[in-house]
Amino acid sequence: MIFAANFKTNHTRKSTELYIRELNEKLGTKNPEDKIYIFPPSTALNAYEGDFTVGVQNAYATQNGAYTGEIGLEQLDEFGIKTILIGHSERREHMGESQEKVATKFTFFREQGFEIIYCIGEPLYIREKGFEAVMQYLLAQFDGIDIMYENIIIAYEPIWAIGTGRSATVEEISTTHRALKKAINDKPLLYGGSAKPANIKEITSIAGVDGVLVGSASLDAESFSEMILS
Ligand code: PEP
Repeated sequence: MIFAANFKTNHTRKSTELYIRELNEKLGTKNPEDKIYIFPPSTALNAYEGDFTVGVQNAYATQNGAYTGEIGLEQLDEFGIKTILIGHSERREHMGESQEKVATKFTFFREQGFEIIYCIGEPLYIREKGFEAVMQYLLAQFDGIDIMYENIIIAYEPIWAIGTGRSATVEEISTTHRALKKAINDKPLLYGGSAKPANIKEITSIAGVDGVLVGSASLDAESFSEMILS
């Protein structure tokens, strides 16, 4: 299974160091086949050591240059970062990242050989229209995206389940993942949206779920390690 922690705009360099120390202590008994990713805020990127991969939540599609407030390859290289989240619904919504911009970023980081966790997800009004509308919406988020890329992991994250405490049901995850798996040629597919210790077993038991992308419940090393070890 894949367990990815998205800290969003939480944690500092200091608290990330403490988090990683605690995680390393707790994960001594983890299944060696499980793969862990941590996405701290950019200010807390570092060359941390442990049985996990550190990635960046966002970066600009450039080596360096005049892009005030952004970071590019030069800054990521300093810490050996080769993994990136692209297409998260919060960036699409709050930072106005259009599908075109998301696709440009994807192509740039694909060409750099990055491992990309590519996020897709539908808003509630689309889910309420029914499954056909959901799939149409989700598949449109593959426009301009090379889903055959060898280093892609896809994360299905229904927007209405992110940070709300309300996970999608087993039935909703199961039917959506089954349809998505066909569309993505069986690439690794994560579920994200209020995954937590209380529901992790149920979610990871669903066919077509290869892991989880976790926000809130990943902020605490104890809760995240409980999910990994459960
Ligand atoms: C996310 O934002 O990727 C996420 C899944 O958040 P949460 O676990 O808090 O719903």
